[in-house]
Amino acid sequence: MSAPPAPHVRTLIVGAGFAGVAMAIRLRAAGDEDWRLIERASAMGGTWRDNAYPGAACDVQSVLYSYSFAPQPRWSRRYAPQQEIDGYLVSVARRYAILNRVETDTELRRAAWDDAAALWRVTTSRGELTATTLVVATGALADPTMPAIQGLDRFEGAVVHTARWTPETDRLVQGRRVAVIGTGASAIQLVPGIVDEVAQVDLYQRTAPWVLPRGDAPVPTALVAAYTRFPALQRAHRAVVRSVREGTVPLFAYSSRLGRVAEARANAYRRTELPDPVLRAKATPDYRIGCKRVLISDDYYQALRRRSVDLVTDPIVSVTAGAVVTREVATGSLVEHPADVIVCATGFLPMRPPIAERIVGADGAPLAQRWDRDGVAAYKGTAVPGYPNLFMVVGPNTGLGHSSMILIIEAQVGYVAQALRHLQTTGAAAVEATESATWAWNDELQRRLSRSIWLTGGCSSWYLDAHGRNVTLWPGTTWSFERAMARFDPHVYRTIAPSRASSSASATQARSNSPR
Ligand code: NAP
Repeated sequence: MSAPPAPHVRTLIVGAGFAGVAMAIRLRAAGDEDWRLIERASAMGGTWRDNAYPGAACDVQSVLYSYSFAPQPRWSRRYAPQQEIDGYLVSVARRYAILNRVETDTELRRAAWDDAAALWRVTTSRGELTATTLVVATGALADPTMPAIQGLDRFEGAVVHTARWTPETDRLVQGRRVAVIGTGASAIQLVPGIVDEVAQVDLYQRTAPWVLPRGDAPVPTALVAAYTRFPALQRAHRAVVRSVREGTVPLFAYSSRLGRVAEARANAYRRTELPDPVLRAKATPDYRIGCKRVLISDDYYQALRRRSVDLVTDPIVSVTAGAVVTREVATGSLVEHPADVIVCATGFLPMRPPIAERIVGADGAPLAQRWDRDGVAAYKGTAVPGYPNLFMVVGPNTGLGHSSMILIIEAQVGYVAQALRHLQTTGAAAVEATESATWAWNDELQRRLSRSIWLTGGCSSWYLDAHGRNVTLWPGTTWSFERAMARFDPHVYRTIAPSRASSSASATQARSNSPR
């Protein structure tokens, strides 16, 4: 007897974080129940489930860091802690009856486009299925990167990444000597978060960050009551916070004069917080503000002042069984810093998501291979030529340094929902972004980005690829992103008709004629 055919679903959503949950809610609102939502972890929540290190919190005000359709009047602080955001997302998923549809412990292993059948053949850790459309909502902060430091694998204490922190890690660091590698957004929250619990923190800095005060505070109960009673008040507050942040894009990213004003503010803050000139010099950046993500914190510099915290700026050369070894810049001599635990606050793989290895296009090539060859690019951060009916949420050039990614997610989810509706209403089997539209879109993005602080500010950052192109950030405001995403634009896509016999041949022909 032959095996029964794999089950089919119209839309397979991969990843149950803010993006995947928003996509599922959107489909349900449109009356479409023909979807599945798979999640590789044993709980939903995405990056807000994973980043549970002490001190983890949002660096965008909570009034803005929530779905527009699900306001939350009861945030405890202006900048909500990780647990509250994770709880919020779960509560929204429950309210929209998505939670019980999340298929946890189900990892996408491979999704290959079958051009003849015009569908995705998908293998997960729990079996096979086919899907008409694939929505990849795995985000930019899903896969942590570990530093390539000689000997790290031979360290005899625990080595943990901030995005893999568990309650057990809390116990491990108690009263111990902790080496923290990195001084990005995660590290500057973690160090104040653990400093009272550990014996010693050696903080290894490769590049000093620009830090501005955060101005965090509890949300007064009277304000919570007012938001609850008058939701319009919270909407108005959200609009104001959003507008102020939007204003920083043209001013900060494209104007050196205003950048200087921000630098003066950050320099004054550092002078006040770090009176010791030696420590202050170590913590002073040597590139323009905004080139890397600007960090906000009320307690990072205070933590650096603690006697139990040592900011180490000499480069790490190796790790031994019980120590981190640095080379003194002045003398060239090696210095051993004994450690019990090493915490890698070394970030993620936003430009090289491992899932791109697993998505195989019409010509049999993994998406990662195309991106290695041509550079990371997608049409509107969403669709890629050669990968019909693949839609990404938080794809290339959709990241933000200045505002809430939830705004981006909602705009992109709206665009994808329109694409899915287009397929249903026209009866088309598939749509595929054309090469010409994709490169026109990306050439324009790169033209705008080339004069931005991210490329001209004198730093190297994970926003940039090996060719120095910023393939990570959206160059404008969230308003302009919303405008770009407002309407699905079928005229720039190639439509694949349901009858495959003729169109498969013409598809191959069309691809081989593509400009790059
Ligand atoms: P990150 O910004 O990529 O920072 C990684 C840090 O590790 C940098 O300081 C980097 O130094 C350092 N590093 C990497 N490899 C190293 C090596 N081999 N040796 C020494 N140092 C090394 O990562 P992150 O702090 O986890 O933040 C990532 C993103 O997560 C943020 O930009 C943000 O989007 C998000 N995030 C958000 C929040 C929030 O509040 N919403 C909080 C945390 C994180 P270099 O600068 O020299 O490369």
